[in-house]
Amino acid sequence: MTKPITITDVRVILTQPSGPRLAVVKLFTSEPGLYGLGCATFTQRIHGVREVIERHLTPFLIGREVSRIEELWQMMMVHGYWRNGPILNNAISGVDQALWDIKGKIANMPVFDLLGGKSREAAQVYVHADGASPDEVAANATQLVDQGYRHVRVQQGLYGGNSNNFNKPEGAPAGAYFDPKRYQNATLRMLEEVRNQLGDEIELLHDVHERLTPSEAIRFARDIEEFRLFFLEDLLAPEDLHWFERVRAHTTTPLAMGELFNHPLEWRTLIEGRLIDFIRMHVSQMGGITPARKAADFAHLYGIRTAWHGPSDTSPVGHAANLHIDLWTPAFGIQEWYRPSEIDYEMFPGLPRVIDGYLYPNDRPGLGIDIDEKLAVEYPVADIVEEWTQARRPDGSAARP
Ligand code: MG
Repeated sequence: MTKPITITDVRVILTQPSGPRLAVVKLFTSEPGLYGLGCATFTQRIHGVREVIERHLTPFLIGREVSRIEELWQMMMVHGYWRNGPILNNAISGVDQALWDIKGKIANMPVFDLLGGKSREAAQVYVHADGASPDEVAANATQLVDQGYRHVRVQQGLYGGNSNNFNKPEGAPAGAYFDPKRYQNATLRMLEEVRNQLGDEIELLHDVHERLTPSEAIRFARDIEEFRLFFLEDLLAPEDLHWFERVRAHTTTPLAMGELFNHPLEWRTLIEGRLIDFIRMHVSQMGGITPARKAADFAHLYGIRTAWHGPSDTSPVGHAANLHIDLWTPAFGIQEWYRPSEIDYEMFPGLPRVIDGYLYPNDRPGLGIDIDEKLAVEYPVADIVEEWTQARRPDGSAARP
C-alpha cells in the first residue's frame, strides 16, 4: 500500500488587495509541491478566524490524511463541542476548500468533476448597479447591460439609502443612518424608472439587506410585484425566519435568502417549507464546499435553486469554489459576481473571468486558482473599525446593517 498523503503545515494568508480584508488558507502536504487553497474570509472578524485556524485547527490537522475530507469536516465541526458559529465555520471552510483543491490536484481533475461533472459550461452571473438617483442607477445598469450582463441588482444609496438628513435626537451618535419608510418609497420610484429605461428583457434584482420589519417586508414585496424581479434578496433577517410563511402567502415576488446563515436548521426550514426560491448562503460562512453541496442537493429535491453569495469580501479562492459548485449542481440558479480588480487577477492567477454575462472556469485541476504570496504581503490588512455596518435608525438606535 502506498503511504497516505498527510497534512504537514497550515498557513493563514491575510491580505487586502482591493477593498475588504481577505483570509486564505494554504494547506501543505507530505507530497513535495502539493498544496491546496481555501477561503476563510469573515472580513469583519478576520483575526478571530486566523486564531481559530492557527491555534485550534492546525494542531488537530497535522499528520491527518488529506483524502478524508468528509471525516475531517465532521470532526472539525464537533471536536470543539460548540459548533456552527461564523468564526468557526469560516475557519473550517478554509481547510475544507483546500482539501477539495488538493483532492482535485491528486486526481488531475477540476473540482466540478469530482462533484459529479458539469451540468453547464459556465455560470450566469448578476452584478451590482448603484446610484444616488433613479436616473443614475438606470445609467449605471445600462452600462453593465452594454457589457453583456443580463442580470443586474439595482440599489439606490446602497442598502437602505444612506442619509444623515433626519430629525435625530440631540446627542445622537454618528453612524450609517437610514429610514425604512424613505428607503421603501425611494426604491419603488427607482425600480419604476429602471424598468422603464431598461425594458422588460433585462432581469432586475434587489437586496433589502434585512432592513425592514416583517409587516413592512410583506407590503414591500407586494408593492414591487409589478416590476417582475428575478428575485428579492434578504427580505427579512434570520431572526425573523418564521415570518416567511406569511410573506409567501401574500406575494408572488421570488425570494432569495441566506447570506447570513450559519446553521443547517436555518436553510433546512425554509427549503422544507418551500418558502423561498433561491438559497444564497455564503459558502465559507456555512463551512465550505462539503456542506454547500449537500444543501444544493437538498434544495434540488424541493425545486429550489442556488444563488451563492458572491461579494468582494469573499476571496477569489472562494469565488472559484462557488463556480465549481455552480457548474456541477443541477439546482444552480445564478451566481453573484463582484467584478474583480486587476490587482485581484494579478494576486490570484486563475481567478475566473466573465464573458458576455457568463463566468467560465479554466481547465486546471482542483479549484484552478493560485495565490502570489509575495504580492499578498505587499497588501497587508488594515485594522479598522467598520463604519458601514454601524447602521442606525432615525432615532439613533442600532439597526441591522
Ligand atoms: Mg446581499
